[in-house]
Amino acid sequence: MYRSRRLSKELLSFYGLHFPYANKKKSLKRHSVTVGIGGNTGDVRRRFEHLFFYLQRDRRVDIKQTSLILKNPPFGYKEQDDFFNSIMILQTSMTPQKFLDYLLRVEKKFGRKRSFANAPRTLDLDILFFDNRVIKTKKLTVPHPSWHMRESVVIPLAGVRG
Ligand code: ADP
Ligand code: MG
Repeated sequence: MYRSRRLSKELLSFYGLHFPYANKKKSLKRHSVTVGIGGNTGDVRRRFEHLFFYLQRDRRVDIKQTSLILKNPPFGYKEQDDFFNSIMILQTSMTPQKFLDYLLRVEKKFGRKRSFANAPRTLDLDILFFDNRVIKTKKLTVPHPSWHMRESVVIPLAGVRG
């Protein structure tokens, strides 16, 4: 179902079904949001496909593009399985704060339980970019801090931004 390519000893990229994906249809929603998605418990690629269908059915967001899926080692707390990461570019008319609350609800729906920082997770949804805005509130930092230092972001992102 997925083709894979080894990028290095530790990095493996996957291509299949809706990752990567591009939707040429114009969206009337106001904002473009780049969302980082990740997980490392159970069948993560299958969960990403479920997420794709879930978002596709939701009228509050339009999926513009998705990236390949990157399998990469955990950072921070290392005694856990490798992570799968990808990127989705969505259009929405929600405000950044409303959109964050929305993502946190979607995480919950997909079984996310919060334990400790960098712990194993079923689904992590992060706002990497929201248009070209800079936001620094207690609940939200955009662009996502240190995104440019993470292979899990930079490699998938390279394929979706021309
Ligand atoms: P992490 O993604 O850093 O592993 P969590 O997913 O548990 O951690 O997120 C914890 C909190 O991070 C969220 O409740 C949210 O308020 C905050 N946060 C700050 N900036 C962002 C962002 N750009 N995207 C997503 N969450 C963010
Ligand atoms: Mg998060």
